[in-house]
Amino acid sequence: MAKRVLIAGFKHETNTFSKLSTTRESYEARGLHFGDEIVAAYKGTNTEQAAFHDACARHGWEPVLAVAANAVPSGKVARDIYETVSGHILETIDTAGTPDAVLLELHGAMVAEHTFDGEGTLLELIREKIGREVPIGVTLDLHANVTARMAELADIMVSYRTYPHVDLYDTGTVCADLMARTLAGEISPTVTLARAPLLDGVDHGRTTAPGPMRMLLERGAALEREPGVLRVSINAGFPWADLPETGPSALLVGDGGDDRYRALADGLADLMWETREELTVTPITSAKAIALARDRGRVGAPVVISDFADNPGGGGYGDATGLLRAMVEAGLQDAALAALYDPESVAACQAAGAGAELTLDLGGKVEPGLGAPVRATGTVEGLYEGKFRLEGPMATGVAVDIGPAAVFKVGGVEVVLASKRAQNLDRNYFKSCGIDPAERAVVAVKSAQHFRADYGPIASEIVVVDEGGGLTSRNFRELDYRHVRRPVWPLDEDATHNSRTGAGGHAA
Ligand SMILES: [Zn+2]
Repeated sequence: MAKRVLIAGFKHETNTFSKLSTTRESYEARGLHFGDEIVAAYKGTNTEQAAFHDACARHGWEPVLAVAANAVPSGKVARDIYETVSGHILETIDTAGTPDAVLLELHGAMVAEHTFDGEGTLLELIREKIGREVPIGVTLDLHANVTARMAELADIMVSYRTYPHVDLYDTGTVCADLMARTLAGEISPTVTLARAPLLDGVDHGRTTAPGPMRMLLERGAALEREPGVLRVSINAGFPWADLPETGPSALLVGDGGDDRYRALADGLADLMWETREELTVTPITSAKAIALARDRGRVGAPVVISDFADNPGGGGYGDATGLLRAMVEAGLQDAALAALYDPESVAACQAAGAGAELTLDLGGKVEPGLGAPVRATGTVEGLYEGKFRLEGPMATGVAVDIGPAAVFKVGGVEVVLASKRAQNLDRNYFKSCGIDPAERAVVAVKSAQHFRADYGPIASEIVVVDEGGGLTSRNFRELDYRHVRRPVWPLDEDATHNSRTGAGGHAA
């Protein structure tokens, strides 16, 4: 008889410093699909769900589809949507009966109103329902803040190995294939978690240049040649979350219990500690970025500027104005920015109509303390639906909805205004609004790193701006951390780590 495999996804990267609650509407905006809708939404895309779907066919499993839920990073997940999604998973188990295995597509950095450990709590609810024997396989984003409880309650945990994350499908496939070996009785996987007293580290997980992440991944690959080691994952963690267990971690999936696994995983945590200060990107001010862009940007060979501190992909509001203000004041020509979250200005553009000239207060509305709106007179260049599919290397094929959108041109700067928050990780954020970024001299994106996958090929040069003014700045010492374990680097000078003596400590 075919094995019955329960499939569910519940993702969020929660920036606990954001004042925007993550609601049902937040999930509906990015993706909230139940049962068979999951296949319709993700079949053929570069996602874990597509990989799970294909694995069912390959291994002859009967899929039991529960829910796939994903929302743009923002503040804590509201309790009601958390309970709707988790409740639907539990109800599916009640209705369909205890499955032979569970495959979960998680992020690993979810915080809900009622729990610091969104994924650990979910795993506990599922374990209460299915018991300890049914194997659970989990995929994670490499920006997961993995808790001891998560590692204890899962049998298989596999994280992305690329940032930009272009290996979603591959990660799902690895997880599903380890589950197939488990169901065949070939392996008995266990998860070992190791950490150092780090809030931040591993260069945020960047794999676009030689640095800590690539080095750790190579070390992990070497460990996979050791007997019994099935999979090693390196998580850079998500530092903009004030939680006891925030931070980078190593995960080792081993066959059975073996004391060696602890030492091997700890060795990776040691390496994370040793490389904690290494970064492959040096952020600069917007003034420097614009001077450079004006000097070197050419139509057809744009300089691409990343607004690191206001990355909606890390919970930034997407309406910070520092970079936009500098672009407008510098009088840049053939320049474009996407996307500024500003539903009010979109509505004003719609009311005025395409071609109209008007004065708007752009951005700076969610948290004016981070930077005031930019008052600017310009022209409504076009009005758009804001719905498109990703065509770049990341999450290829997935549908995106940035809400009604407008292009507002101020001098030589075209600003894509969006009604929903979203990270610009694909050229279609511009193209869907009538702008080909390859044909601009300067292109600014609300994205910290993911944009490199699709914009790298058209960029003559990439620069990264971080001068504060957003929720995803590396200004950790200015943030009010109250719950993270202390001492922890880089908040505390006296944080130390040595896994061999236990100093600094790490979770089991
Ligand atoms: Zn990530």
